[in-house]
Amino acid sequence: MGVLNIGSIKKINGVTQSIEKKLNKLGLNDIFSLLWHLPYRFEDWSTLAQIKDLKDNEQNTIKGKLQMISTRRSWGKRRMYITEAIMADESGTIKIVWFNQPYLSKMLHVGDEIYIAGKISGTPIAKQILAPQWEKVNKTGAIHTGRIVPIYHTTEGLTQKQLRFFIKQACVHLPQLQDWIPKEKLDEWKILPLAESIYKIHFPNNVNEIKTAFDRIKFDELIRIQLISGSNRAAIAKENAPSININVSKIKEFVNSLKFELTVDQKKAAWEIVKDISLGVPMNRLLEGDVGCGKTIVVALLAYLVKLAGYQTAIMAPTEILALQHYETLQNIFKNLGVSIFLKTARTRKLTPSKITDDIIIGTHALISEDVSFKNLALVVVDEQHRFGVDQRKLLKEKSGLNVNIGNNKMAPHFLSVSATPIPRTLALTLWGDLKLSIIKTMPAGRMPVITKVVRSENRVKAYEFIKNKIKEGRQAFVVCPLVEANEKLEAKSVKEEYERLKKDIFGEIEIGMIYGKMKSVDKEKVMKDFSDGTIKILIATSVIEVGVNVPNATIIMIEGAERFGLAQLHQFRGRVGRGLHQAYCLIFMSDSEKGFLPDVNVLERLSFFAANKDGFKIAEYDLENRGFGDMYGRQQSGTPGLKYATLKDVKLIKKTHVCAEEILQNGIEKYKTIFEKFNEWQKKVHFE
Ligand code: ADP
Ligand code: MG
Repeated sequence: MGVLNIGSIKKINGVTQSIEKKLNKLGLNDIFSLLWHLPYRFEDWSTLAQIKDLKDNEQNTIKGKLQMISTRRSWGKRRMYITEAIMADESGTIKIVWFNQPYLSKMLHVGDEIYIAGKISGTPIAKQILAPQWEKVNKTGAIHTGRIVPIYHTTEGLTQKQLRFFIKQACVHLPQLQDWIPKEKLDEWKILPLAESIYKIHFPNNVNEIKTAFDRIKFDELIRIQLISGSNRAAIAKENAPSININVSKIKEFVNSLKFELTVDQKKAAWEIVKDISLGVPMNRLLEGDVGCGKTIVVALLAYLVKLAGYQTAIMAPTEILALQHYETLQNIFKNLGVSIFLKTARTRKLTPSKITDDIIIGTHALISEDVSFKNLALVVVDEQHRFGVDQRKLLKEKSGLNVNIGNNKMAPHFLSVSATPIPRTLALTLWGDLKLSIIKTMPAGRMPVITKVVRSENRVKAYEFIKNKIKEGRQAFVVCPLVEANEKLEAKSVKEEYERLKKDIFGEIEIGMIYGKMKSVDKEKVMKDFSDGTIKILIATSVIEVGVNVPNATIIMIEGAERFGLAQLHQFRGRVGRGLHQAYCLIFMSDSEKGFLPDVNVLERLSFFAANKDGFKIAEYDLENRGFGDMYGRQQSGTPGLKYATLKDVKLIKKTHVCAEEILQNGIEKYKTIFEKFNEWQKKVHFE
C-alpha cells in the first residue's frame, strides 16, 4: 500500500494512554493498522427470534435465561451423556438437548443468560432444539442484535465495542488509502477496490458482502505469490548453477550405510532432485511429504553429493531449536564420512568467521540477512514452509561465493524448499509457477499409527498416571500449551504455569523442562539437548516444537487447549511422536474455562475427526471444509505459507489470480506503475512465508 500516513492512533477519539498500550499489544500502532485489524469471524444476530415464533426445521438464534440444566446418562448400549436444559424468553420456554457434553452442566448455570443457535424440532407442543451452538451473553456482549457483528481479536480490558468504535473512526480515512491495482484493472478483473472491501468487512450489510470483500483481500494474497513466483521463474531461466556430479557409487555407499531402507518415494524424490542439480541450471523445487515421512535423509543425501562435488550446502530452519536438531541429526549421519558441519545460531554468532568454509551450514533465516558469506554455496535448503522471493535469492547469490573466480554474476545456487504442508500438485504448480515438485507419499514401513484420544477433563489425573507409567518404562513426553505466560483471563494453559504446577503437584521426582520461542538460545539448546539425551523426561513447550523436532524416544504428546489450534497444526504436533519403535500416544485436552461463543459440538467433532484420522492431506481438507460462517477468517493459520485469508479451497481465485498475474508479467510489470511499486515493496521485505 502506498503507506498511508494518516497518523497516530492517538488521534482516535477515546484512545487514552492506557488504551493505546492495549492497542499496541495487538500490534495496532497507527490508523492504518487499525483499518487492517480485520474480524476473524462474524455473528449473525440479525435474525434473533422469539421462542413463541420458532418454526420446525428452521435455523434460529434466540436469547434467553436458563431455568433448568442437568446431565444424566442414558441407558442401553451407548450410555450417552444427555444434558437437558430449559430456556425462557419473554415469549415462552423451550427445551434444549446436548449429547455427550457432560461438562456443559458445569459451565452453564440456572439464571445464565445465553444465546442459542440451532434447528427447531419436536412436536408443536413440545418443541426442542437439539445440539445447538451456544454463547453466554456477557457484559461487553453481543447485544448488537439486528445486524451482522464483526468479532475481532482483542486483549484483556479492550472490548469488542471499543474496538468497533475505534475502527469506525479509522474508516473515515479510507478514501486516502491508495489502491495498488489501477481502476481499469479492477473493472476488468471484476474485483472490489481495497478501501471499499475493508469498509465492508468492518461494516457488512449481509453475508454476501463479507464474501466479496474478503475475495479482494484474498486476491491480493494470491496474486502476490504468483507475481513473485512468475518473476522468479523468468530470473532463474537466465541463470547458471554449479552442475553437481551424480556419483552413483557414493550414493549407493551412503544409502547402504543407513540403518534403514529408503522408501520407494524417498528414492524417487532423491533421484528427481539429484538429476535436477546436475543440470547446471538453478533448481527451484519443493519437496513435499507428510510429517515423519523422512525428508531429512533426502536432504542429507543431496548435501553429501554437493560436498563430494566440492561445494557447500546451507540448510535453513524456521527455529533455532530445529536448526540445532538438524545439526545433531546430520552430525550423526555424517559421522564417518568426512563432512564438516557448522551450526550458526545466536550463540555461535561470535564464533562465526566472515566466510564460512564448512561443507554444510545450518541456521535459521538469519543465515541470509546476517553478515556471513560462503566459500561456494551450491545448494540452499529451506526446511518447513519457507520460500524465497527474488531478493533473498539475489542476496544468497551474492554471498554464495560462486562468482568470485568467474568474475561475472551469472552463477546462482540451487534451491530446495522442504515442506509438510499438503498442497495438491496442480494447485501448487498454479500458485508457484516457478517450482518443480517432488512428493513423498508413503511412510517408512513399520510405523505404528499414533493412538490419539480426546481426553475429558475428569480423566486428567488418569492421563498423568499413564504418562508416569510410560516414563517408568523409559519413554519421554511432550506437553504442549497454547500460551507462554498465564494471561489475566486464564483462558488457556501456559507453559510457565504448567511447568510449575506439574513439577510441584503431579510429577514429583521426574525431571521436567520447558521451552518456548523467546528463551535465550543457549538455554533452548541446553533444554533441547537434555531432552534429546533423556535427562529431561517431560518437556513443556509452546508451538515452537510444532515443526521438525525429532526425539524418537518421546512417545507421548499431551496437547492442552487443543481447540485453539488448527487441525493441520495438531497434526504437526502429533508428528513429534511415533518416530521410534515404541507405540506412541497423542492426548488431546480442551480448555476447561472456554469462554465466549463456543461451538462445542463443532470443537468436539473436529477433534474427534482428528483423533480418528492420520493422513495429513485428509486432515487439512477437513479443516478447510468445516470452516463455517462463524469462524472463517485468519483465526487459524490457513496452513499454507503466505496465506492468511485465502486457502487452497479458493480454487477459482487461485486460477483467476494466475491468469491476472501472467497477463501483468507478460506485458511487463514495470508498465503498471502502482503494481510495480507494490511488487518492489514485497520484494524488499525479507519476507519468508
Ligand atoms: P520429516 O519428513 O517430517 O522431516 P524426518 O526426516 O525427521 O521426517 O524423519 C522422521 C524419522 O523417520 C527420523 O527418525 C528418520 O530417521 C526416520 N526415517 C526416515 N526415513 C526412514 C526410512 N526409510 N525407514 C525408517 N525410518 C526412516
Ligand atoms: Mg523435517
